Amino acid sequence: MSAKVTVWQRELAGAVRDPLLLMQALGLEETPPNLPLSGEGQEETVFLSSSPDKGRRGGVSFSSLFKLLVPHSYMARMKPGDWNDPLLRQVLPLDDELQVVEGFNHDPVGDQPSLVADGVLHKYHGRVLLVTTGACAVHCRYCFRRHFPYSESNPVKGEWEGALAYIRANPDVREVILSGGDPLTLSDERLALFLGQLAAMPHITRVRFHTRLPVVLPSRIDAGFLQLLAGIRQQVVMVIHANHAQELAADDVQQALAALHSAGVTLLNQAVLLRGVNDSVQAQVDLSESLFAQRVLPYYLHVLDRVAGAAHFEVPESEALPLLEGVRQRLPGFLVPKLVREVAGEKAKTPVV
Ligand SMILES: *Cc1c(COP(=O)(O)O)cnc(C)c1O
Ligand code: SF4
Repeated sequence: MSAKVTVWQRELAGAVRDPLLLMQALGLEETPPNLPLSGEGQEETVFLSSSPDKGRRGGVSFSSLFKLLVPHSYMARMKPGDWNDPLLRQVLPLDDELQVVEGFNHDPVGDQPSLVADGVLHKYHGRVLLVTTGACAVHCRYCFRRHFPYSESNPVKGEWEGALAYIRANPDVREVILSGGDPLTLSDERLALFLGQLAAMPHITRVRFHTRLPVVLPSRIDAGFLQLLAGIRQQVVMVIHANHAQELAADDVQQALAALHSAGVTLLNQAVLLRGVNDSVQAQVDLSESLFAQRVLPYYLHVLDRVAGAAHFEVPESEALPLLEGVRQRLPGFLVPKLVREVAGEKAKTPVV
């Protein structure tokens, strides 16, 4: 018996995986091809040259599991003809990623030593984070988990048993964070299986989702998911990961956030400070304003985790601090995110001061 395929699952299956299609859809065909660019059906990621002079499509192709992935709904919010569009920059594989930069490695936040059970990271008091799946609806080039060995530490493989046993045996844990990958790429049936077990644990008072789907694939917030939410006994927090106001400027996103808000979900946002995407006071002010207009509060603004392949996105702390000070001078305190860095081995996210 196969489960019914939902609208969002069909949209995800039809997401853009071929850089050539993305460029065509955005009218970015300025340079003649001198390499076949299609990544379709290959185990390769095509990296475009970051220098317009070299010709974007003169890029080389390298084997990689972290291929381009972008849903149509998200692509529709990109500005045609603009190589510097802040949404495009987040998903476009550039040859900058191939640079080896000292200090940028494969596990920048020390996840591996914190694995206490299959897919369970327990770093901080009172809360555990579950790597529920390796799948995402979009591949963000700056992602700190782009090298995470999902296949070896994924609770789904063991039908959640290891994770549930750990949580059950640790009464100090109050909050369970579903992360990934993106937990909302799991079907409602799979989520219900896990959440049902969690409901039976009196010490768990909060369930938190960290997900980019309300932003990149808003159709995920459908009637079935809302029904699932309504059945959760605990308080529900959802941290959406929006980095730019333009990501929120679409009816489907606004409807999804409104539905979550109506369902009683506490909505927070976590962003990453990214060179060429949101590294200005104006971009951050616009993001906070747009979030609050959709009833989402800014939570964290992360400085980049130093993951191999993402060095070109880094904004140094010496620049991040005055930027945030600029934001503070423009907005009420509740719209100013906390500027933090994740430091391996620390007991909480570390404030950047
Ligand atoms: C970031 C993170 C959390 C959540 O931290 P908060 O400060 O509660 O938002 C929890 N567990 C792990 C392993 C994390 O990396
Ligand atoms: S885990 Fe989050 S940041 Fe990383 S690729 Fe997936 S959606 Fe993007």
